[in-house]
Amino acid sequence: MSGFGAVMLAALVAGTGAPAEAPPPPTAPAPIPAGVITRLPTREREVALTFDACEAIERAHLDHGITDFLVARRVPFTVFMGGRFARDNAADVRALARNDFVSIENHSWSHPRDMRALDDDRIRSEVRRAASMIESTTGRRTTLFRFPGGNADERTVGLVRALGYQVVHWRWAEGDPSPTVAADQLVAQTLARTRPGDILIFHVNGRGWHTAEALPRIVDGLAARGYRFVTVAEVLARDGVASEATKAR
Ligand SMILES: [Zn+2]
Repeated sequence: MSGFGAVMLAALVAGTGAPAEAPPPPTAPAPIPAGVITRLPTREREVALTFDACEAIERAHLDHGITDFLVARRVPFTVFMGGRFARDNAADVRALARNDFVSIENHSWSHPRDMRALDDDRIRSEVRRAASMIESTTGRRTTLFRFPGGNADERTVGLVRALGYQVVHWRWAEGDPSPTVAADQLVAQTLARTRPGDILIFHVNGRGWHTAEALPRIVDGLAARGYRFVTVAEVLARDGVASEATKAR
């Protein structure tokens, strides 16, 4: 049975009033489907800084407080970029792509809140349209995809993987789109929680409220703990590990 089918069945069972497991709280993250990479396949003290550049309806802008710092320090990082974001920030995105230590990957065309609600053709078009906008803007071909909000199931992951993508999410979320998550908190939780192979997720579209403020302390703190910064793509491209990463789930 597909994940979606299982969810529907669970919903139907719950609807009958039959005794069932307690429903998860509304904020519980969706279960992670097979084939989603949530950490890097490495035992080394390597960590990937990733930043989502989401744009749905409202115009979003590149957060230069983040990118200027990382580029000046030549810290490798990965941006999961929406197609609309690439279109509306073309000059900034082109400049970013001139840095070979910056990886630019696919985060859908229009950032649908939950791609599980879309039919197969729409999912493929969200991925392809973003890919072609990013490619025409930067000359880069994307190979990794991140679902908006991490909302994915077996069907949607399978469709994206069939287009030649690896799906890359995270092990734990920073929560930086919440204005109440202060810079001190971002620094403290990152230094306390990060483990080798973690994929840290922040936002570079103006929604990471305190990310730029926290980032210098995060980078210096992780470096002081012996971490090396890598892009997701470079680690997955090492011989043999991409398939292992997929099997690991
Ligand atoms: Zn997003």
